Amino acid sequence: MPVLSNFSLLDLNTLRLPARAAQYLRIEQTAQLLALPPHQQRFIFGGGSNLVLLGDVDGLVLHVALMGRRLVTEDAEAWYVEASAGENWHDFVLWTLAQGWPGLENLVLIPGTVGATPVQNIGAYGLEAGERIHQVRAIDLDSGTERVFNQADCQFVYRNSIWKREGWHLTGKSLITSVVFRLPKAWQANCGYADVAIELAERQIQSPTAQQIAEVIIALRQRKLPDPALLPNAGSFFENPIVDADFAQKLALTHPDLPRYPQADGRVKLAAGWLIEQAGWKGRQLGPVGMYEKQALVLVNRGGACAQDLLALMAAVREDVARGFGLTLEPEPVFVGTPSPAKATPFANRMGTRPRQNS
Ligand code: NAP
Repeated sequence: MPVLSNFSLLDLNTLRLPARAAQYLRIEQTAQLLALPPHQQRFIFGGGSNLVLLGDVDGLVLHVALMGRRLVTEDAEAWYVEASAGENWHDFVLWTLAQGWPGLENLVLIPGTVGATPVQNIGAYGLEAGERIHQVRAIDLDSGTERVFNQADCQFVYRNSIWKREGWHLTGKSLITSVVFRLPKAWQANCGYADVAIELAERQIQSPTAQQIAEVIIALRQRKLPDPALLPNAGSFFENPIVDADFAQKLALTHPDLPRYPQADGRVKLAAGWLIEQAGWKGRQLGPVGMYEKQALVLVNRGGACAQDLLALMAAVREDVARGFGLTLEPEPVFVGTPSPAKATPFANRMGTRPRQNS
């Protein structure tokens, strides 16, 4: 596979923002990583589902398309299952369930690739990928050496890891080639989230199998979240803020309905989607972009948006949440590319339009 020049990245980001890469290389074999041109700025792309392209990418985009999945070994306690970084995450989860290896079912239908799961320590419905990750294999692109990260080396915390914290996921310092998951044989259903429990009760399921939990979560996500193939988006656009307990308590005095989730370290997680909704942005648009009507945390591109449109909406939402609640929301996706001087798409009312009812 040759290096391609002036390559369109439109199909490589689920927000479908227009941008081009000066150079592009699809990585199908790890051997390709050992023959890269030296001293070149590199950017690692997986499924592009947690990515905001600010403009053209002046460097080499490495599109990770390494494929393969296998049972590495099993012992009395667990199955150890490896997937290459380019595997589609959702397909991989379904495959493990079909093999009779439960443990990843709460993470079904999260868009993206296996290689991206450790970076953000993806999580949903009370499970984080880091809880199941046994090892991560990666290549240091500067030295060409392989390194195996054990679970503790990954430094997993809420939606974060050593890759995200150090910026390795952007620079190519450490390109993840595969992930080994440890799936305990002593499986227990994890149905603590209210939506899951309610849906199971409605289906009259008292002791769900992993497959049934997967089916419930697929149904919940399809009901609430837009399919990026139909309505471009990057999943949750802001992180849930984790604040001091005192701050959360004070906020609750003026906002008695404030959802609060106490953390192990004594701090309190707030729901960014709830804050955005209260700030009036659920289902509201600014030009061609908006916050989704069924889940305010998801920023959607309704067609033809450029990065400036998205940045304008991001700023407006952050400003209103800061004014209402005294805290600053941090965006969850990574931002890549050189902003172009182009103006935002012209639109009549910069204060936004009222909610659209359906996508
Ligand atoms: P939701 O159920 O409406 O809840 C809103 C927020 O409150 C969630 O973000 C969740 O935090 C938190 N929450 C709810 N019940 C909780 C509990 N019992 N214990 C602790 N925290 C609780 O959220 P939703 O939008 O429908 O999303 C459902 C799940 O899918 C969430 O876990 C969400 O994170 C996940 N999801 C993940 C991604 C991603 O990884 N990029 C994208 C979309 C949705 P948490 O987010 O910490 O769970």
